[in-house]
Amino acid sequence: MEKKNHLFKAEIKEMLDLVVNSLYSKKEIFLRELISNASDAIDRAKYLALTDSSLISDNPEWKIEIIADKDAKTLTITDNGSGMNNEDMEKNLGVIASSGTKAFREALKEKGGANLPELIGQFGVGFYAAFMVADKVTVISKKRAEEASYKWESDGTGAYSIEDGDRDFYGTSIVLHLRSEFEEYLDKWRIQDLVKSYSDFIAYPIYFREFPIKDDKKDEDENKPLNTMTALWKRPKKDVKKEEYVEFYKHLTHDYDEPLETIHFSGEGQVEFKSLLFIPKAAGMDIYMPNTKRGLSLYVRNVFIGNDFEMLLPEYLRFAKGIVDSSDLPLNVSREMLQDDAIIRKIKSAVTSKILSSLQEMKDKKEEEYRTFYSSFGRILKEGIHTDYSNADRIKKLALYMSAKNEDGKLICLDDYVKAMPKDQQDIYFLTAERIEDARHSPQLEKAIKHGYDVLFFVDPVDEWLVDSFREYEGKKLVDIAKGDIQFGSEEERKAEKEANDKAAADLKPFLESVKEQLKDYVSDVRVSTRLADSPCYLVAGANALSASMERMMRAMKQDIPHEKRILEINAQHPLVVKMKDFSGDELKDAVELLHAQALIAEGSSIPDPARFTKLLTSLMMK
Ligand code: ADP
Repeated sequence: MEKKNHLFKAEIKEMLDLVVNSLYSKKEIFLRELISNASDAIDRAKYLALTDSSLISDNPEWKIEIIADKDAKTLTITDNGSGMNNEDMEKNLGVIASSGTKAFREALKEKGGANLPELIGQFGVGFYAAFMVADKVTVISKKRAEEASYKWESDGTGAYSIEDGDRDFYGTSIVLHLRSEFEEYLDKWRIQDLVKSYSDFIAYPIYFREFPIKDDKKDEDENKPLNTMTALWKRPKKDVKKEEYVEFYKHLTHDYDEPLETIHFSGEGQVEFKSLLFIPKAAGMDIYMPNTKRGLSLYVRNVFIGNDFEMLLPEYLRFAKGIVDSSDLPLNVSREMLQDDAIIRKIKSAVTSKILSSLQEMKDKKEEEYRTFYSSFGRILKEGIHTDYSNADRIKKLALYMSAKNEDGKLICLDDYVKAMPKDQQDIYFLTAERIEDARHSPQLEKAIKHGYDVLFFVDPVDEWLVDSFREYEGKKLVDIAKGDIQFGSEEERKAEKEANDKAAADLKPFLESVKEQLKDYVSDVRVSTRLADSPCYLVAGANALSASMERMMRAMKQDIPHEKRILEINAQHPLVVKMKDFSGDELKDAVELLHAQALIAEGSSIPDPARFTKLLTSLMMK
């Protein structure tokens, strides 16, 4: 092959500049990133070898070697993993999906250059960390025995080349030509320390060798791996240090931050498995994207089968990361086989249950931590109320809401709500709105508040979609105060109110009828309100109709839904209404038009004829 020179894609060039020139005290993380990549590559090779024995026959030991050449000032990280051919090199080492880079740039803008190296990890561009300590990087790799080997090389300033390599055995060597100020990384003790603190759990032995390499057999010291290789999840919980969990989490997720919660447990009974799960502190950029990778990594008897087994985790827990290791599955499993496998279903159900109980415990005992969790992932978790019937009650218990009686920012759960209910309150009340301010100013709250009842605010888009699955909580009905013919108070109060209303309605009958006639194109009915205290009127949906905010949301999503006429409720006791009752002719017509427009504005909808509305209002103000 002729040597070919390539330019990095523009985004990479920009990023490389940032990586190399950023002031960062922890340049040492380059080693963790390269070891992680080597370990991933061996994972892949080992899995392929399960079905292709030619890969394993002449491969005595899966391993990673770190070779220091003090004369050449190079540090080489070598693995005998899955390797890369020239196309892979172009794809993997010359390009990053531009969406990733865009997200990267945005995060950079937001967080500032100081956090750059953490961001690099987060965006899976770990390989480029090599340029923090090296002014030239050479990658020599071979994918399989029958393929040629290739050499990739770059000084990290904008171009790279690919040509034939000289490697006999498959796998990858990354050669770092160290900058003079980083020669410390040629020192065995320095490397040993780094491996111990960042990569101890890596499942393959990591050896340190000094160039020229001595005869392996004779040198006891060189034959001792730097890492202990113990799979953390196999060790008793009490023996694992917090830092070890944290480093494993970072290896697994490329997150720069510590996990919020670590869940280490074993499943017993019908299926035996071990699991190590993490809940991150914050959502990644992609958690709401439809084709985000999710699920857990699967091991079968210590052999890595793959990442992102989404059948191990329900979708609404997609924020959880981690691994499951089961000895009950066959080694030659495929994703397709697992799609509908009874053992997998049992593991999924046990994992789900464990995560939910850990969240409940966090909620009960570590309020601050739970709030962090909830603000990152609450709206995702809530999807489960709709999608996981068998766990819906447990998820309802975990949901948090703002409410009419609590100041902004304070969140309460349904148990808090029920506990604070006055004796005569039977149902749980909620109001849906797009924004918290709209909910707070809604006239529909008036009567409920006067009765001393709190009202939950459902302001997440997902809440509205959940209402149907959320009809009751522990025997109490959930009632939308914006819908239907609602009444508050004790049996007697309701009765008295109904009588007063019927009487008011009878008194107002001719008035209500003329209003109804005038607005017949806009509303389905005009009636006396049971929920208003201070406002003259309000528009409500019929008991089974979509609420105004749901309607707006569906329209925004380009859903073609018919305009459902709503009901105009009039506050019979309001002085304005009392006055309007005696109006007639144009005076009545104009007043009704203004009243209707006002009701539309109050719920955040637009009015049919703004120009005419302004004219009417102006002339009213002149009077
Ligand atoms: P990430 O590991 O997060 O995907 P990197 O920038 O670290 O991002 O690596 C990019 C890609 O290059 C990897 O996904 C992998 O396909 C390939 N790669 C890196 N190192 C190795 C290696 N030692 N062996 C085989 N492939 C590798």
